[in-house]
Amino acid sequence: MTSPNPFLQLDRQMVGDIYTSSEVMDNLTILCDEFGSRFGGTPGEKQAADFMQAKLVEYGLQNVHLEPIQYEGWRRGEVKLEVISPVYQEIPCITLPHSPACQLEGTLIDLGDGAPDDFEARAADIQGKIVLTTSEVRPKGSSRWIHRMEKHGRAVVAGAAGFIFVNHYPGFGPATGGIGHNGASLIPGISVALEDGAYLQRLIKRHGEVTIRLTSTDECAPMVSWNVIGELPGRQHPEQLIMLGCHYDGHDISQGATDPASGTVALLEAARVLAAYAAADLPVTVRFALWGVEEIGLIGSTQYVAQHADELTNLRFYLNMDMAGSLPNKGIVLNKWPELEPILAGWSAEMALPFGVEQSINAHSDHYPFLMAGAPTGGIGSVGGPPRGGRGYAHTRYDTLDKTDITSLREAAVLAARLALRMADAAGAGSWPARRRSQEVVADLLENPENKEEEAFFARLDAFYRQARRER
Ligand SMILES: [Zn+2]
Repeated sequence: MTSPNPFLQLDRQMVGDIYTSSEVMDNLTILCDEFGSRFGGTPGEKQAADFMQAKLVEYGLQNVHLEPIQYEGWRRGEVKLEVISPVYQEIPCITLPHSPACQLEGTLIDLGDGAPDDFEARAADIQGKIVLTTSEVRPKGSSRWIHRMEKHGRAVVAGAAGFIFVNHYPGFGPATGGIGHNGASLIPGISVALEDGAYLQRLIKRHGEVTIRLTSTDECAPMVSWNVIGELPGRQHPEQLIMLGCHYDGHDISQGATDPASGTVALLEAARVLAAYAAADLPVTVRFALWGVEEIGLIGSTQYVAQHADELTNLRFYLNMDMAGSLPNKGIVLNKWPELEPILAGWSAEMALPFGVEQSINAHSDHYPFLMAGAPTGGIGSVGGPPRGGRGYAHTRYDTLDKTDITSLREAAVLAARLALRMADAAGAGSWPARRRSQEVVADLLENPENKEEEAFFARLDAFYRQARRER
């Protein structure tokens, strides 16, 4: 049974266009094969920003512009990891973004999957050593997701001399991810494949003391990135906003095809069809944002939220689209907005498009600065399918164009365009119940044991960095 659909004509135009055009895959091919990783500080990053700006203009969006972002960036140099005792062996590795240049010799300590309790219990042994831990996100004894940044941070505060991140999936090579803290990490961090990490763990187990030498020539330096912004102005309440956002920078070791570019091009495609068919009917403004330098600390979106603080009360919803064009079981993950669930369920019925809705809070993409500022937020996420096994190819050198397919890109673009149309309509009619939260309500929301432990740790890490930088 299909519910009556007041947007049937527009839906048919937008969906029909997306499914009869190759534009979304053409754009993905250009972003990946012409501009490479688009990592902060690479030539391809600016080329991608200029390309997307030109696309938004071509599609008929308005107020299209770049917003520059000043930040402390990082450039990969050479790296060499050698086991020097009890055997000699060179091990392939990559440094993690914001790892400082180093010449380091030290002994290894194996923290296994990196459970917070183990870091606490073994703090005295960690001092001065090089911590080895896997990328397992749910270490034994931990009820919550433990992010790389926390494991690395726990090594830093325990006084480790270095950090080795071991991929917990075989055959994927080393997994990358930033370890900076508004600039260079205090200790070098590298990543190795599961197979090489397992070898190091076996050596530690058999010999007790394993000494390595790590040499790297990475550089930290002030850099500029760009957020790319364009919009379709509202006809009745232009000051009210619905926003769609996705970052466009990938990690420098790959094309970042699934993470993030599958979402980046789905956003561009939604912008294209909304501009072509719905622009005259939008009562409120729909704004599109392509964020710079997400991968090394949500830098572009964080700056945007700070610089556009006066607009956030009028922001009715921010929809994040990171990786959206490569997720199975696409649905909507709301950041604890239960009042929106019945509305989305009603739309799912009228759209004749079953999609799941979940509620959760996490800090690891561009919705987060908006969430912290109280704005209603959510994102396209994997909802209701079998549990996903980590990031897959994302953050490895194998996140390349061949891992994507046009059907998944189209699904994400269709979901985003049809929902943005309805959100704008509901906001214009005053029937969209989400309103900006106060800072007290935001704080209460994070007040649960899981978030509390993580937040308390990152506050401690913050203080540790402030102190360490004062002493330098
Ligand atoms: Zn991403």
